[in-house]
Amino acid sequence: MGVKKNVPIINADEILEGIKSWVEIESPSGNSKMVNRVMDVAQGLAGKIGADIKRIPGKDGFGDILKVRTPWGGDSPGILVLSHLDTVHPEGTIEMLNPWRQEGDKVYGPGIYDMKSGAYMALYAYQHLVRKGQESILPITFVYVPEEEVGSPTSRSIIETEAKKNKYVLVTEPARDGGKVVTARKGAMRFQISTHGRPSHSGLRHEDGRSAIREMAHIILKLEALTDYEKGITTNVGLITGGTGCNVVPEHCSIELDVRVDTIEQAKKIEALINDYSSVNRDIKISIDGGLNRPPYDKDDGILSLFEHARTLAAEIGFELKDLKTGGGSDGNFTAALGIPTLDGLGADGHGAHTLDEFIYYSSLVERTQLMLRLFETLE
Ligand SMILES: [Zn+2]
Repeated sequence: MGVKKNVPIINADEILEGIKSWVEIESPSGNSKMVNRVMDVAQGLAGKIGADIKRIPGKDGFGDILKVRTPWGGDSPGILVLSHLDTVHPEGTIEMLNPWRQEGDKVYGPGIYDMKSGAYMALYAYQHLVRKGQESILPITFVYVPEEEVGSPTSRSIIETEAKKNKYVLVTEPARDGGKVVTARKGAMRFQISTHGRPSHSGLRHEDGRSAIREMAHIILKLEALTDYEKGITTNVGLITGGTGCNVVPEHCSIELDVRVDTIEQAKKIEALINDYSSVNRDIKISIDGGLNRPPYDKDDGILSLFEHARTLAAEIGFELKDLKTGGGSDGNFTAALGIPTLDGLGADGHGAHTLDEFIYYSSLVERTQLMLRLFETLE
């Protein structure tokens, strides 16, 4: 073919090989050692490209944060690329439950879609730029965080500080529904609620007991009733623990609640409502923790024009880029809420985030990497 040997091309197999080396290191958010091993590999690649590297030691049992910056552009504001290297999958998932494999266009593996492929492709695009002997107009900072899947408790302030220093934020979360990018997200709230009753023998002294589980049952039904699809509010009691034995009136019960909202006003209303709960049985104490974790983000003018720019680039590459609003939260919620134009969902196309059927489409690797590269090359 007329291609000269020394002109590098974006190569799907090369990308996939890199993604594989990241997926094979399983990195659940809670395992800082394993998360740091993926950080090591990312750092190694960034070092080879010639980037400036900063590693911020982990806190509160989480892994490190890796900051990679192009050596050009000085301190001027540029592009922030946000990725997380943790996954929701416990270690061992890759052995039996979702082993690395390619079936036709689908490539499977834990965390491949959310989001090791997107995280790798961004760095690959940077590498490609350097291989072509070029520089981006703006400096690029890549931030790799270790605990996005649990709400980014240790990285949030760093993400926000970095975002404020930049003009644009690109988030490498997975593409949705046939390659759509994300230009708006719901807000996410988390609550931990516990009830504290009085234990007793359920056969001998039933009347002395005050059941923490019974009280919690009231609370759960109230919480679940807050779901309003029309208003875009959903509540989900996703975890529950309580009791010590079948013949003991339970002293403790606790739940974790996830709430998604469309607006900050809805979030405030729900927070007030939940904090106002009083127990049906006066002898039972309720304690409530939590609140808004990720603020909602809307497609404002800055996001709209960033998306329009990306859409034009995609058309030049040869595909149609569409956008959507999603209920899932990401670190993009933090940056968009600060008013920094944020484009999310730039990772590989695929399906099954957070499930054991998680896969990416091999055919999406080149065009998505090309889009990332073109954003690097053209944003100014
Ligand atoms: Zn993710």
